[in-house]
Amino acid sequence: MKLELIKQAALINGEWLPAQEGIPVCNPATGQELGQVPALSSAHIHDAIKAAKKAFLSWRKTSALERSKLLEAFYQEILSNEAQLASIVTLENGKPLNEALAEVRYTASFVQWFSQESRRIYGDTIPGNRSSQRLLVQKEPVGVCAMITPWNFPSAMLGRKMAAALAAGCTLVAKPAESTPFSALALGVLAQRVGFPKGVINIVTGDPQEIGALFCSSPLISKISFTGSTRVGRLLMSQSAGTLKRLSLELGGNAPFVVCADASLEAALDGAMASKFRNCGQTCIASNRFLVHSSLYPAFVKGLTERVEKLRVGAGHVEDIDLGPMINQAAVQKVKELLLDATQKGARILTGGIPQGDSLFVKPTVLVDATAQCKLWNTEIFGPVASITPFDTDEEAILLANDTSYGLAAYLYTQSSKRAWELSEALAYGMVGLNTGRISTAQAPFGGIKQSGLGREGGRYGLDEYLQLKYICHELI
Ligand code: ADP
Repeated sequence: MKLELIKQAALINGEWLPAQEGIPVCNPATGQELGQVPALSSAHIHDAIKAAKKAFLSWRKTSALERSKLLEAFYQEILSNEAQLASIVTLENGKPLNEALAEVRYTASFVQWFSQESRRIYGDTIPGNRSSQRLLVQKEPVGVCAMITPWNFPSAMLGRKMAAALAAGCTLVAKPAESTPFSALALGVLAQRVGFPKGVINIVTGDPQEIGALFCSSPLISKISFTGSTRVGRLLMSQSAGTLKRLSLELGGNAPFVVCADASLEAALDGAMASKFRNCGQTCIASNRFLVHSSLYPAFVKGLTERVEKLRVGAGHVEDIDLGPMINQAAVQKVKELLLDATQKGARILTGGIPQGDSLFVKPTVLVDATAQCKLWNTEIFGPVASITPFDTDEEAILLANDTSYGLAAYLYTQSSKRAWELSEALAYGMVGLNTGRISTAQAPFGGIKQSGLGREGGRYGLDEYLQLKYICHELI
């Protein structure tokens, strides 16, 4: 397939600025260079911000119906190009092609959702103190939004931010991750094709620290939406203090996967595989700690080990596989260190193993007997490692599950409705998968609490992130 959507250029004010002296982008499965994107200067970033500000003045005045129609056309265009977009995701990120296609459809589903939600930006009227008073509340777009996105879902993480912002009437400057910029730039090509006015969508590439600092300090930017590590999220928050920006931060997780005594073992195993090994374990909602009631523990350990042994690891762009490579050496080294630490503290590997050499292909691994003293208990593993721990009572399960500073997603398996309610409410997380390992969908609010961040993406709540309230007090004279 010819990949004409791979664009080696940044999008500023409707113009494509080609890469000279660019940043190379490589296929993690082969190390082969796919192309380059520009290392933009700060002057270029300022140009992009200014273009978004200028475009905002007219974009904010478009009717909800107009924005809805453009987003609907964008949705159709993404679907019409889904095979090519999926190939780009696999080439730059390494995930299996079927997962890449699912990601592209997931991106499209947000664009469709927000195309429809843009028509439901409702306000309020409030009874006044006198008959001559009318009190109104209306919602307005916040302004220019900066978006910084990660490499693990290079299409979807940007698509869901863009769609919400555009639906609200905001304009944007986006900076994708340096290892996976082509999926984001391809969305820019398609958005232009369907007719978004120039300057409404700008996509820049270059040095992340420099661009992040420029976004945070720019008085022209009203909001930053970031998905990535808790470390960078905190940095952006502190850098934004000077300009008091609105922030949405979707940060790290440390998801517990709790299997109660009355759970369906088969369903729990299915959910465990789905929540753990997608994208080679590199998702923020990946299960990080499997907590299994002691009565089911031996069967769960056996079942998961058998399933993990069947997983096929390889290069997604040439063969049918379950797990691709990890994104880079730093990611592999982290998994290696966590496994060395755990095994030194008494944990046992049942299948898989500690990564050796410098390959980015890591064997999916099942580990038992890791304790809360092991680093992986409190660290987002972000790799294909499943660590399983038994528990005896519901109280103990909740204590173990909540024993983390993160609060993004948790999973719970039980067939009792009483336990389902009580334990879901006791889990200190922004999202709970109850008898499912697959929770992400466009109509639901995705996001976390505690060190997992602020704000929600998706659902009707996702639109509010890009809107501000205006109260109008009208005296009838
Ligand atoms: P990871 O460790 O998974 O790569 P990061 O938080 O480092 O997660 O990266 C997520 C996004 O944040 C990427 O687009 C990356 O370029 C960007 N980023 C990294 N460091 C900074 C920074 N200092 N300021 C702004 N953005 C940054």
